Amino acid sequence: DLLINQIAAGEVIERPASALKELLENSLDAGATDIAVQLEAGGIKRLVVRDNGGGIAKEQLPLALMRHATSKIASLDDLQRVASMGFRGEALASMAAVAQVTLTSRNANAAHAWKIEAADGTQSGAAPAAHPQGTSVEMRELYFNTPARRKFLKSESTEYAWCEETFKRIALSRPDVAFSLQHNGKSIWQLPRHDLAQRITAILGAEFGQHAVNVERQIGALHLYGIAALPAYSRSTRDEQYFFVNGRFVRDKVLMHAVRQAYQDILHHQRHPAFVLFLDMPPEQVDVNVHPAKSEVRFRESQGIHQFVFHALQDALSAPMA
Ligand code: ADP
Ligand code: MG
Repeated sequence: DLLINQIAAGEVIERPASALKELLENSLDAGATDIAVQLEAGGIKRLVVRDNGGGIAKEQLPLALMRHATSKIASLDDLQRVASMGFRGEALASMAAVAQVTLTSRNANAAHAWKIEAADGTQSGAAPAAHPQGTSVEMRELYFNTPARRKFLKSESTEYAWCEETFKRIALSRPDVAFSLQHNGKSIWQLPRHDLAQRITAILGAEFGQHAVNVERQIGALHLYGIAALPAYSRSTRDEQYFFVNGRFVRDKVLMHAVRQAYQDILHHQRHPAFVLFLDMPPEQVDVNVHPAKSEVRFRESQGIHQFVFHALQDALSAPMA
């Protein structure tokens, strides 16, 4: 039922940035090594994600746009794994319920690409199309059929800023993948495949790297690494706080508290610390599915995690690089 779909879809796709996050995660799931994003009017008018991943076979195209149709869960183990990356089979269906969607894809075995279009609960049949191996998903006129929701979108520049932030988070988490971003025809980001240090510098700027220390600590299956800015880094704002748990961007009170406490203890630093940190840990010790659309996590042993992060930061900050 279209109305029910539209209401549910509005929860999944709250704004252009939520669509962008889902599409980028799909491209990464498909093994893409090169991902290009094009936005118009903050992603409200048009949002395209094009990848060079495995692609979708012609007969799978209609399924990809159907609710709860996912190709990614073959076992309970997979369910656990996929739960860490967004919804299960809802993202494309949700987009098709609240926007006009064109899905174009070519997989390795196909002689050419195919595309289907969806809007207002109906789908076109697959038509031949031109596309190199991989997939493009184009979303146009978000909420064109639910004007009440469209009114709740912010200005184009605000929606754009959310999209750009989403893009930066994912680009930081996957330096091994090339990313680009265009807005209103203008190239904003061109990120070739990098190592982590290069990707951090590309996104946060050289000044960040010049006034930062390396963080590195491994105890058993817990591994924390990344860089943390010293007080000399003057641009430090609340926005430059990137924490990834098992590759996924999170905002978490326990982690933030541990970081802030280390800055206060060592540097008596009250401002917002800037950092890019990765915590890798056994997946069964962290629940990342508290709310798939929010960046929340819950740790089994939150006190142990707090101690681990606090001491790692304390060590790193008390021995700053010369
Ligand atoms: P989910 O990612 O949870 O499976 P989605 O609605 O995001 O659900 O995607 C539905 C299905 O469409 C995926 O399971 C996958 O088979 C296919 N798909 C979506 N995007 C891509 C892509 N970029 N490359 C290859 N397949 C894709
Ligand atoms: Mg998905």
